[in-house]
Amino acid sequence: MAGIVVVFDFDKTIIDCDSDNWVVDQLGVADVFERLIPTMPWNSLMDRMMRELHARGRSIEDIAACLRTAPLDPHVVEAIKTAYALGCDLRVVSDANQFFIDTILKHHGLLECFKEINTNPSVVDEEGRLRIFPCHDFTTRSHGCSICPPNMCKGKIIDRIRASAFVEGKKRFIYLGDGQGDYCPSLGLSEEDYVMPRKHYPLWSLICNSPQPLRAEVHEWSTGEELEKVLLQLVDRSIDADRNSPSQMFSVDCKPKMVPTSPTETLPLPLRVPH
Ligand SMILES: [Mg+2]
Ligand SMILES: [Zn+2]
Repeated sequence: MAGIVVVFDFDKTIIDCDSDNWVVDQLGVADVFERLIPTMPWNSLMDRMMRELHARGRSIEDIAACLRTAPLDPHVVEAIKTAYALGCDLRVVSDANQFFIDTILKHHGLLECFKEINTNPSVVDEEGRLRIFPCHDFTTRSHGCSICPPNMCKGKIIDRIRASAFVEGKKRFIYLGDGQGDYCPSLGLSEEDYVMPRKHYPLWSLICNSPQPLRAEVHEWSTGEELEKVLLQLVDRSIDADRNSPSQMFSVDCKPKMVPTSPTETLPLPLRVPH
C-alpha cells in the first residue's frame, strides 16, 4: 500500500469541462442561468437551475444521460485506474455535487477507485427534482476562510483528510486542480507534497503570480495525456522514496509493479515560480 493520497478536483481536471455548465448548456437553460448569476451564489443557482429543468419536464434520467456525455480523456481514466492499482488513496474534492460526480465516475467505471468524494450534497426529492445543497452551510456560520467560496473551503477539507490519512501512515499528497478554489488547499501542502496545476488555468496563474511561495513541488500539465504521465511519474517517485525510507522496509515486497515507462522519459523539472 503506497503512502500516497491523490486528491483530484473534478471539473476541468478529471472531466474536460465544467459539469454545471455542461448540464445547463446541453439542456437549454443557459439563458436563465446567465440572467440569475448576478443574483445568488453559484451553489444556490445550481439548485435553482435544477428546479428550472424540472419545471420544463426534464427528468433526473435526462440529466444523468447528459452527464454521461461530458468529455473525459481516456488517459485520465488510465491515470486513475493505474494510481488506484498501485495502492494510492484517491479522493475527489469538488465544488460540483454528489449526483453529477457519481453519475460520471460510475459511467466510466471509476467510482470504486475513490475512497471518498467531498462535494456539495444532493438528493432527488419526492417530485423527482434534484436538489443541491452547500457542503458548508454558510447560512448559519462562515467557514472562516476568506479566499474560498462561502459553501466550500477545500483547504479545510484537505486538513481533515490529512489528519485521518496521517493516522493510517500516509504521508505524501498529490493535489490536482485547475481553479481558483484549488489555491487554498495548495497553500496548505507541505514540502513532501506535489501540486499539479493545469497550465494556463486560474490555479496555475495564482501559483505563478503568488507572493507567497508554495511549499509543495509544482508540476504543471495541460492535456489528459500529460496528466497521466506526470501523475504516474510522481507516484512512482514517491513509491521509490518510501521504499528507501527505513520505516517502510517491511512493506517493500508488497509494492505493486509500476507500469513500465520508457527509460528515456524523465519527469519534467518542477515549475519555476518567481518569488
Ligand atoms: Mg476545477
Ligand atoms: Zn479556503
